[in-house]
Amino acid sequence: MEGNGLKRNLILFGPPGSGKGTQAALLNKHQGLEHIAPGDMLREHRAAGSELGNMASSYMAAGKLVPDEVIVGMIRQRLEHGPVGSGFVLDGFPRTVAQARALQELLAKIDRPLDLVVVLEVPTDQLVLRLSRRSGLEHREDDHPEVVTRRLAVYREQTEPVLAYLSDQVPVVKIDGIAPVAEVYANLLRVLL
Ligand code: AMP
Repeated sequence: MEGNGLKRNLILFGPPGSGKGTQAALLNKHQGLEHIAPGDMLREHRAAGSELGNMASSYMAAGKLVPDEVIVGMIRQRLEHGPVGSGFVLDGFPRTVAQARALQELLAKIDRPLDLVVVLEVPTDQLVLRLSRRSGLEHREDDHPEVVTRRLAVYREQTEPVLAYLSDQVPVVKIDGIAPVAEVYANLLRVLL
């Protein structure tokens, strides 16, 4: 699998509900990329009742970002000590410019520079629809309408500036995230070639 020319160290970037988790899971399944998602890691911590999980839980329920040092510590641990195999896809990280800076330092240290940032573009009205549907299916408390509004605002205010920061250092491509899952995935693979 390794060495087939695919770009292998990626960030999947986009607002909540843009399909990052779905596409990252497909890249994991079909391309063997490590799927690194702090949201999933935090939900596991919360379910296990760990100190970190308890600490993060009120931020998550309110749709706010968990403090940078907590997230960066968790990702540092994962990248330095977990497998990074033939490559990784970061889903939901970095979400602030401070996290992006820390990431670049970390990746320099483990000698795995980013190949690409892929942005999944979905208009806001579609995001709200998708998240309200997910709220019914997955019972994520942060998919409730009041919290969704907050998460989208946090994305615009704190996360979107990350793109400007990264685009000075790493190639960025935008793809349409509205199409059906399989079509988005096909387009995603195309930009990784
Ligand atoms: P997600 O599943 O990626 O939407 O993340 C769910 C929640 O976990 C977010 O709303 C935040 O409260 C928290 N979270 C996930 N990733 C980060 C991050 N990179 N920085 C800060 N908080 C995060």
